[in-house]
Amino acid sequence: MIAIYPGSFDPITLGHLDIITRSSQLYRRVIVVISRNPNKNPLFTVEERIAQIRKTTQHLDNVEVDSFEGLTITYARDRQAKVLLRGLRVLSDFEKELQMAHTNKTLASDIETVFLATSTEYGFLSSSLVKEIARFGGPINHLVPEHIALDVEKCYGNTLR
Ligand code: ADP
Repeated sequence: MIAIYPGSFDPITLGHLDIITRSSQLYRRVIVVISRNPNKNPLFTVEERIAQIRKTTQHLDNVEVDSFEGLTITYARDRQAKVLLRGLRVLSDFEKELQMAHTNKTLASDIETVFLATSTEYGFLSSSLVKEIARFGGPINHLVPEHIALDVEKCYGNTLR
C-alpha cells in the first residue's frame, strides 16, 4: 500500500523523521510531499526542502519526496495512494487534524487519514520552534538532522559553531 505524508517541512525535524521512519516500516511506499502553499511565507523554497528531505531520508529505500499544489486528495489519487499520514502531538493538533480528516473524507471516501502518535521525546517539537530558537541564536542540533541545523543557522547568520 502507498501512503503519502503531506506537510510544510520548513524545515524537516527529528519529529518528522521519526514519523517517516516508522511509517516506512508499515507501508510499501511512503511519499513525503510538500504542499506548495502560496499563503505561507517559508524559510526554505520548495526545491531546498525537497533536497533537505531527500538527504535526510536517503537511507530509507521505500521513501520518496515530491511536492504538489492543490488538494491533497487529488495528489493522493494521482499517486494511487490510499493513505494520508499525519502526525499527532498535542491536543491542539487533534482538533485541526480531525477537521481536516473529516473534510478529506467528504471529498474522497476511498482515502483514509491515518494518525501516528509522536514519539514522547518529540511531542513538543515543531518546525516553528526550531526557527524561533535559531532566530535568537540558540542551539537546534538536538532537534533537526545535522545538515538541516547548518542550513537553518546559515539563514539566520549564526556561524558561531
Ligand atoms: P503542516 O503545515 O501541514 O502542519 P508540518 O510540516 O508542520 O506541516 O507537519 C506535517 C505533519 O507532521 C503534521 O501532521 C504534523 O502534525 C506532523 N508533525 C510535525 N511535527 C511532529 C512531531 N514532532 N511529531 C509528530 N508529528 C509531527
